Amino acid sequence: MTLSTQQGTQPATPTTLREGAFGNAVGLTCRACGHQQPLGPFYACEECFGPLEVGYEFPEITRAQIEAGPKNIWRYQPLLPVPTDITESPNMEPGFTRLIKADNLARELGLKTLWVKDDSGNPTHSFKDRVVAQALSAARELGMTVFACPSTGNLANAVAAAGARAGIKTVVFIPHDLERAKVLTTAVYGGTLVAVKGNYDDVNKLASEIAGEEEGWAFVNVNVRPYYAEGSKTLGYEVAEQLGWRLPQQVVIPVASGAQLTKVDKGFGELVSLGLVDESPYKIFGAQATGCSPVSAAFKAGHDVVRPVKPDTIAKSLAIGNPADGPYVLDVARRTGGAVEDVTDEEVREGITLLARTEGVFAETAGGVTVATLRKLVEAGRLDPEAETVVFNTGDGLKTLDAIADRVGPAATIDPTYSAFTAANLI
Ligand SMILES: *Cc1c(COP(=O)(O)O)cnc(C)c1O
Ligand SMILES: [Zn+2]
Repeated sequence: MTLSTQQGTQPATPTTLREGAFGNAVGLTCRACGHQQPLGPFYACEECFGPLEVGYEFPEITRAQIEAGPKNIWRYQPLLPVPTDITESPNMEPGFTRLIKADNLARELGLKTLWVKDDSGNPTHSFKDRVVAQALSAARELGMTVFACPSTGNLANAVAAAGARAGIKTVVFIPHDLERAKVLTTAVYGGTLVAVKGNYDDVNKLASEIAGEEEGWAFVNVNVRPYYAEGSKTLGYEVAEQLGWRLPQQVVIPVASGAQLTKVDKGFGELVSLGLVDESPYKIFGAQATGCSPVSAAFKAGHDVVRPVKPDTIAKSLAIGNPADGPYVLDVARRTGGAVEDVTDEEVREGITLLARTEGVFAETAGGVTVATLRKLVEAGRLDPEAETVVFNTGDGLKTLDAIADRVGPAATIDPTYSAFTAANLI
């Protein structure tokens, strides 16, 4: 396969695909102009260079069929661009993470019914395992030989781990100033890890250039992005299934590129059109850190376009200054009656400790962003306190310890004697 460096230029003939390589997917549709293309190693519309999205022709799919599947994302195989024998090749088994009823946090915020979808329970402790598993399948079916990505950290973990498990060479590019934990938890899986002197947007640009030069490289979030992004639909499917096959009324989702938020909406829509859940209104709210809030800024200004920013926030996993799906996030938020809001780094830290203290869930900075945004939206009266609400924690606090390092710690350091303990007056 050859990709030109000119953005959007595609190989003329698709690789020959094995029958059913992409399950019930039937083609790629341009999200900008609606042009249809065949399935293949394509990521930009041949007419207008717009982003491509996987389209399907679903057969009848029943709840029972899904419930009989494995306790991971592959139970939704018929709804994903992966073959029916997906579980037979080594891949990750992410998903079916816990949905916990967050009564303590609900009480503290004044909400009636609140759930936390806790995606820190995935194999590499973030939601990225969901999308990488789709990208790995696509790369394999397309005959690509190198598994690569530009990453703000969590994607690096997921790509390195999935590549190791699948026995495919990985090359991962990260900004040089990433959290130490995310660097080490990527490097440990082997493969090639490259630190780039620049921010994520610089790393992303470099990756696009390399994708254009190197044959057979699958950059998970660049040239196999249409397949990759579908993995986020599983978050929507799981929330609905775990609620007993119904949709929540309000959802708060973090926004980096914006793909996750738009795909949860797509997932909900598919469940309705397949008759797997009843149609019911839901509002989707996007959450960003103020230090990287281009989508929130556009939402508040009433703009349809998202003006890129230079990120400066502790929420590095969300620090994409030029989000590819930004305009689509605006669409979803406006269409569903939701909103996009942002919170300061200080509020992010409070969000992390609030969730930990009330529910025993230790979120990474991205989770701090969503919890703090949830609180801000409730306080501003923009979330209905009576409506059933789901907030996403998409990553594990162990990867971003520095965020809370100077606000939590031992109550005292004492000598190992009872008198020292009582003298310290701790309880
Ligand atoms: C990547 C990431 C997101 C956001 O994903 P997008 O689909 O790019 O918006 C959210 N949370 C965590 C922890 C992430 O790593
Ligand atoms: Zn197009």
